[in-house]
Amino acid sequence: MNIERSEELFAKANKLIPGGVNSPVRACRNVHCAPLFIESAKGSHIRTVDGMDFIDFIGSWGPMLLGHAHADVDKAVCEAAKRGTSYGAPTEIEVLLAEKVCKALPSCDMVRMVNSGTEATMSALRLARAVTGRNKLVKIIGGYHGHGDAFLASAGSGLATFSIPGTPGVPESTVQDTLLVPYNDLEAAKEIFEKYGNEIAAFFVEPCAGNMGLVLPVAGYLQGLRDLCTKYGALLVFDEVITGFRVSYQGAQGRFGVMPDLTTMGKIIGGGLPVGAYGGKAEYMQRIAPAGDVYQAGTLSGNPLAMAAGLATLDILEKADYAGLEQRVLAFVKELAGILEKKGLSVQYQHIASMFTLFFTDKPVRNFADVENASTAIFESYYKQMREMGIFLSPSAFETAMVSFAHTDDDFNKTLDCAKKLKF
Ligand SMILES: *Cc1c(COP(=O)(O)O)cnc(C)c1O
Repeated sequence: MNIERSEELFAKANKLIPGGVNSPVRACRNVHCAPLFIESAKGSHIRTVDGMDFIDFIGSWGPMLLGHAHADVDKAVCEAAKRGTSYGAPTEIEVLLAEKVCKALPSCDMVRMVNSGTEATMSALRLARAVTGRNKLVKIIGGYHGHGDAFLASAGSGLATFSIPGTPGVPESTVQDTLLVPYNDLEAAKEIFEKYGNEIAAFFVEPCAGNMGLVLPVAGYLQGLRDLCTKYGALLVFDEVITGFRVSYQGAQGRFGVMPDLTTMGKIIGGGLPVGAYGGKAEYMQRIAPAGDVYQAGTLSGNPLAMAAGLATLDILEKADYAGLEQRVLAFVKELAGILEKKGLSVQYQHIASMFTLFFTDKPVRNFADVENASTAIFESYYKQMREMGIFLSPSAFETAMVSFAHTDDDFNKTLDCAKKLKF
């Protein structure tokens, strides 16, 4: 595989941009190789500056559920651009997208647009603290809610409830209000509420964990969290930045029938442009300025390009065959896992809708501790060989593969043919 041009650009980028990339995982450090620089993408395929074509299973980490450069989304964005790209004044399209989002997500009466998922979760946390008059938040070990300080907490040794800053630059005082519990462990959640119940403002959870690889909620887990939050007067926040409009058009809340108090969104809702959003019950959302007293603002929030991309995307998704895609992806994942097992590997797969992760371990995966059992060495070999053969996978063992409506049976079959050639 010739990746000379990518390597050239990466060398130059490393002098100008920290690590050569604008978001860490892109650098492919986990798998010890140089990142491929992209020239263009269309549908399920992505093309590098070295002129090589790949079947894409990253999907820009989630937004591209319709595939790259969808004609209708492209058209909407180009037409919007001709009318100007930002006004700093309200537009009709913001109202149309808000209407569409609130109609789709059963728990959202109102929504506020921001520019990233990170901004959405930071704002939702501020709102939850204002609404409850409390400071503490609970998050899941291995859960990701963007890079806001309060969320960058790691589990201290042994004790699940003791958090330490997850990175230099985050003061201890900022994470002392962040409590950590393992995913899918209702008993641990119960204990933390028993201990800190009247101090907890919000429980943040990705309803399907998507940032430790994909880990699905066990039966009753989400409802159990709902009940605990209600009992202790804390807000349940579903971070649906990945699951929103992916696990169903109604998000995870619609699919599992569990209603959060606040929902954070991003990725798909921007159709590939920078967008985030947070929404929920009117009584809470009315607290946001200028309706209420909780400050939150943004120069480019709700900008017409992003709104046009989001609206065009949701217009198509509203009528899309989610069940059909889910079936096709499941059949593909089962076959892929089967091929790898025949090669003597232990594989656990997790799948829902158009997302999946293969974990190279023989033990079932329910939370971050289980995920950490999986072999990163086998993953690295799998990743490198698949990349050589033209399959573009997330360059980390603990990420979720994103399939799109543009993926064809031919894409799946070609990927399976590549998997058959793998050597371990
Ligand atoms: C990607 C992601 C975020 C952060 O969104 P950005 O747009 O990258 O800031 C937050 N929460 C979840 C669950 C995510 O997957």
